[in-house]
Amino acid sequence: MVPEPLQNLTREEFQGKTYSLRMHEPDSDVFYRTIAELADRLVQQHPDSRQLLTRIQRLSRSKRFIRRLVRDGSDSHDGALVATLKDELAAYTTNVQSHLRGLRLIDRWDRTLATSEEQYHLYMLEIELTNRLYSDRFRSSSPKFAFLPHCLRDLSADCRAAQRDIDFVCKGCTDECNVNHASKVLRLHGVKPYIWMSADLRGLLRNAKKEGDGLGVLGIACIPELVRGMRMCLKFDVPVVGVPLDANRCARWWGEFYPNAVNMNKLESLL
Ligand code: SF4
Repeated sequence: MVPEPLQNLTREEFQGKTYSLRMHEPDSDVFYRTIAELADRLVQQHPDSRQLLTRIQRLSRSKRFIRRLVRDGSDSHDGALVATLKDELAAYTTNVQSHLRGLRLIDRWDRTLATSEEQYHLYMLEIELTNRLYSDRFRSSSPKFAFLPHCLRDLSADCRAAQRDIDFVCKGCTDECNVNHASKVLRLHGVKPYIWMSADLRGLLRNAKKEGDGLGVLGIACIPELVRGMRMCLKFDVPVVGVPLDANRCARWWGEFYPNAVNMNKLESLL
């Protein structure tokens, strides 16, 4: 398939391999309203957001436990939470089951590729709660780095991104490129944007913790990868915020790259 500019894609064409935050809309604004309302409701019921976040993280770690909750109904608190998330968010994860059924045996061991539908829902909430808990600390951090996925670039351009201090940096060769758009906005807010190709994120975080150098991180990635990166930042006590790609459309999922996008309103709201 020849990649088309994003604005030419109909909502039916903006499919992700497993999820799409634009499933029924021309953009992902409705998704962000839905997840914000859901988080508001849950925070009202569980005023300690940190505890709620820990509970969600723990819950999403065991697919077997979640399966049992789903099978046994929603009598427990955790079962009710999983059922509520499914009611509100299943519209964005309609392709997960068919993807899982088609996975090769060897890929079933890949935690990212084998993410279950319930895990997607818990991850969506986890990202929202993490953003709420850490956006103030992120904003007051210095330096602030952002890591963008290379699949967000204009696939029809001859990308001129160049290696700089810790990773590749966009050179702004085309106005059609979403990495270019996001990089400009990030720079305006004092965040250094990198295209994540080779940076040793763990080493960077370990060093930041050791040196206490005030680093804050913003991540953009598909949902399972974003959650993994955000958890790693928090493990090293580095404040982190993140925006998921609108869908998972890269070669890891499809075998080839398709144009992708990130919600710029959401990105700006975190800066
Ligand atoms: S605008 Fe930046 S990321 Fe996009 S293709 Fe050009 S150099 Fe690469």
